Amino acid sequence: MQTVQTVEELKSWVREVKNSGQTIGLVPTMGFLHEGHLSLVEKAKLENDKVLMSIFVNPAQFGPNEDFDRYPRDMERDQQLAASAGTDVIFAPSVAEMYPRESQISISVGAQANVLCGAKRPGHFDGVLKVVTKLFHLSEADRAYFGKKDAQQLAIIESLVEDYNFPLVIRRGETVREADGLAKSSRNVYLSEAERREAPHLHRALQLGKNLVLEGKNPLPEMDAYLNKHVSGKIDYIELHDYPTLTKEIEEEAILALAVQFEKARLIDNVIINLKGN
Ligand code: AMP
Repeated sequence: MQTVQTVEELKSWVREVKNSGQTIGLVPTMGFLHEGHLSLVEKAKLENDKVLMSIFVNPAQFGPNEDFDRYPRDMERDQQLAASAGTDVIFAPSVAEMYPRESQISISVGAQANVLCGAKRPGHFDGVLKVVTKLFHLSEADRAYFGKKDAQQLAIIESLVEDYNFPLVIRRGETVREADGLAKSSRNVYLSEAERREAPHLHRALQLGKNLVLEGKNPLPEMDAYLNKHVSGKIDYIELHDYPTLTKEIEEEAILALAVQFEKARLIDNVIINLKGN
């Protein structure tokens, strides 16, 4: 496995792959890899000739008081894990390489960002769209892989691709969890021991809520009470929307999602509920 840090090196690899008629699967990440990221690599491996992983902690998607500076980073460990999962190339640019000048053009997300994390983190999804647009163009990927763990991000990226005819297919990966149900996340390392013991209750609250939704009930009050009882972190939101439109008009699938702010880590999780009983 090769690691490239410049756009030029990446482009020359992409040219070689494309000239030989092979396909590229792109797995965008911010690094500090875990099995969630690696499951996307494995899926990409099955569907493409080559797998390209990007590792870039994207400053454009962090707010001024968020954790950009202390986001966990460990490139050596990431290289080993990415290689063992079958990644062909890691693209790990510096901020200056990715953003050599202040952009003259901005991309702004629509109403799908008015709820959930979009409502709580102003500008976050604009920053996500900025980086993925560049990555899609640079990688010339045939398919790009995103986890349902970040379901709003996934839905918004699907809109970007559909609305602006990006010539690639977005593929969805299932959320990978710890044995106790906690969704794997690079930020889990920032939980204290006591918080780590509480954190599986996020998933349990979602399971409880899912059952209520399937019974036709409003899950939010019970979930709120459950979380207040079991976790010390502050509930940022618990919301129910249509998926992937993220409107109030729930049709076939709903997303029940929550965010909890612990002392040093803000955790998000969700469950997508099929209301047609599949
Ligand atoms: P991140 O490095 O957190 O930006 O995540 C990179 C990609 O991995 C995104 O598409 C995430 O949705 C996905 N991802 C993160 N955590 C998980 C998980 N536990 N299971 C599956 N995919 C995940």
